[in-house]
Amino acid sequence: MRKPIIVGNWKMNKTPAEALEFMKGIEEVLTGEENADYGVGAPFVDLDVCVKNAKHLIIGAQNCNEKDAGAFTGEISVPMLKEVGVTCCIIGHSERRTYYAETNEACALKAKRLLADDIVPILCIGETEAEYDQGLTDNVIRTQLEGSLAGLTAEEVAKMVIAYEPIWAIGTGKSATKEIAENCCRLVRETVKDLYDENTAEAVRIQYGGSVKPDNIAEYMACEDIDGALIGGASLKVDSFKEIIDATK
Ligand code: PGA
Repeated sequence: MRKPIIVGNWKMNKTPAEALEFMKGIEEVLTGEENADYGVGAPFVDLDVCVKNAKHLIIGAQNCNEKDAGAFTGEISVPMLKEVGVTCCIIGHSERRTYYAETNEACALKAKRLLADDIVPILCIGETEAEYDQGLTDNVIRTQLEGSLAGLTAEEVAKMVIAYEPIWAIGTGKSATKEIAENCCRLVRETVKDLYDENTAEAVRIQYGGSVKPDNIAEYMACEDIDGALIGGASLKVDSFKEIIDATK
């Protein structure tokens, strides 16, 4: 059985003081007895305060560099994240692919490096609206997975989380129907099976992301191949994150 994993992606939001307020509010309602893992992907400067105030929430970063140290101004390495106490890290988010040219090849190197330190990569993939309209979703999913998992073993992939996030649904309020979300998440699983094997495909946790809200999360979670969600806007407010927890407990 795959344990569901629901992660908020704060993007470039929240100062450390705001992060602390959120942590206090959410930790009040979590007991650790929930059937799902709950977490947040926080900006680098918030990670320390989040980790120090986390009892049950999983704390993740939103990016990392695949190298351990060196002359890479502005970058953050996996050993740095490890020492702060981070346990997962979003990679390949469409905003990073679009604005910061993050490639599939870079994702593969980052995933490998994260896994070496037991940090769970949350690999984001998904097609644009134009690709969706042209019926290219299958191709995009396959190409992104082939590239972003290159060099990873079956054992490594089994520990990962893959977030299927159609770009047309991110931050638009235009969430994918549960049928589209389920079909695409199943396609992700079938592609993993094709690239690796059945056990790996059955083990990997697949999230849907894109305008997930308290009032639609339950229908995604009821789908067979959807093991959780990556949530942007609706993860920022304590109340709305609490409603998400309530809807998925
Ligand atoms: P959204 O963002 O929930 O605001 O659509 C999702 C994401 O970017 O991960």
